[in-house]
Amino acid sequence: MDAAVVIAGAGPTGLLLAAELAQAGVPVVVLERDPEPRLAAMGMAINAGVVDLLAERGLMERIGADGLPWPRAHFAQLWLDPGRLPGRQTYTYLLPQAKLEEHLLAHAEKLGAQIRRGVTVRGVRQDAEGVTVDTSDGEVTAAYLVGCDGAESVVRSAAGITFEGTEAAFDGIAGDVEVPNGHPLYQQLGANEFNSGLFSVAPSGVGLLRVATGEFGRRPADPAAAPDVAELRAAVHRLIGQDIDVGTPRWLGRWNCQTRQADRYRAGRVFVAGEAAHLHFPLGGQALSTNLEDAVNLGWKLAAELAGWAPGGLLDSYHDERHPAGERTCLTTAAQLALLYPADRVAPLRTVMNELIQFDAVNEYLVRTAGGLNVRHPASGCDHPLAGLRVPGVPLPPGRGLALRFDPAVRLDVDGWADRVDLVTAEPSADIPAVALLARPDGRIAWATDGTDPDGLAAALATWFGAPTGG
Ligand SMILES: Cc1cc2nc3c(=O)[nH]c(=O)nc-3n(C[C@H](O)[C@H](O)[C@H](O)COP(=O)(O)OP(=O)(O)OC[C@H]3O[C@@H](n4cnc5c(N)ncnc54)[C@H](O)[C@@H]3O)c2cc1C
Repeated sequence: MDAAVVIAGAGPTGLLLAAELAQAGVPVVVLERDPEPRLAAMGMAINAGVVDLLAERGLMERIGADGLPWPRAHFAQLWLDPGRLPGRQTYTYLLPQAKLEEHLLAHAEKLGAQIRRGVTVRGVRQDAEGVTVDTSDGEVTAAYLVGCDGAESVVRSAAGITFEGTEAAFDGIAGDVEVPNGHPLYQQLGANEFNSGLFSVAPSGVGLLRVATGEFGRRPADPAAAPDVAELRAAVHRLIGQDIDVGTPRWLGRWNCQTRQADRYRAGRVFVAGEAAHLHFPLGGQALSTNLEDAVNLGWKLAAELAGWAPGGLLDSYHDERHPAGERTCLTTAAQLALLYPADRVAPLRTVMNELIQFDAVNEYLVRTAGGLNVRHPASGCDHPLAGLRVPGVPLPPGRGLALRFDPAVRLDVDGWADRVDLVTAEPSADIPAVALLARPDGRIAWATDGTDPDGLAAALATWFGAPTGG
């Protein structure tokens, strides 16, 4: 075989998945259609969930230096206040997606992932032994294929996975434009709702502004036809009622507001992740957090399967955990869409929502929703309130589980799993209301206890880490 795992697509999802696999010693090849890394990508911000996930992997120090911490969040462009949450302060980062991809690429390559550019995946066939991927550069064989090839995923179609959802009666253009000081676009800074749609302007570099228009009720233009400056100017004119110069585009692209989800995230030896699995209105950074969580969820499970220690059903748990999470993101972003259009009709609803946000519990719920922080996976056999959530702010041992105790008197017997799980004693943390816990390699809490009795730990270890050595 050419590799153990082939990934289609070197977007953020494919790159992080490649890094997770390479870190676990899995030979992995990423096939990317574009000959060069893209310098322009749509995203502008990573939410608190992504910041946590990158920090756990020791990446945030470097990546953060290229971004701007921003202690705010929004729900349908209604401002929330993360500072009012109890405990640990969480941050959104303003960070161009192309920069994030640059860091993820360097991380994946450093760990040994092979990225083959200018190779388009055309199809796949599979049998009991593995997959044969048909590409523009011949066939590539592997044990598994993961489609991280975006919303138009060829892998998804080839595997017979459907992608049902809503059609978008929405026409959107986004891109970076160069503008001199004092340019009229500076007066439009911010995100604004208009009766026919959205217009946002944000700084994206020195003398550079990110503009995005979105017109509801307008038939989407052909996605293959790149927009030009005249089209952008006309869209801005229609939205704000003023004909203003829109600068000199460095790049422009199209976007829309469809909500779609794959019916299955797995078809035999083929998986889909990221935007190949779910597509929704890109608000508040929920897209990248849902995408990257897919990558870290699947990465360690594939590695465990290939290493031979995966318990039965581990690979299927990828769909069982991530499909509901993707469905939830589709729902909460669709709810935000409903709060944005048409501006004159939804204005009273937005006023009431704003009043509700003044209540701490509502603010906290929406901050966690927008930040991707309240995603809870079903945790079989453990009813502790932390089970299924991420372990917040704790560096994870790469590719391994973590048995963490905050009281050295608690006896956590992980001896039978010492080749897969680290035992660490730490100072108690106000952010982790438990005496001990077991975290999986993706940072999800599989088991936790408030007492000194480690009842249930052995079962959780067997569920997620397989049989004990010599057991
Ligand atoms: C206007 C706009 C603003 C956004 N802002 C944000 C934001 O601020 N924060 C946020 O979290 N998200 C944002 N998003 C969403 C975010 O950009 C996407 O969710 C993200 O890019 C999806 O990542 P991905 O890796 O799953 O797929 P993609 O980024 O689509 O990557 C797929 C990769 O696969 C490659 N590929 C495709 N087909 C093939 C093939 N057949 N063979 C080989 N390679 C192939 C592509 O070239 C590409 O490199 C925004 C989106 C839009 C439209």
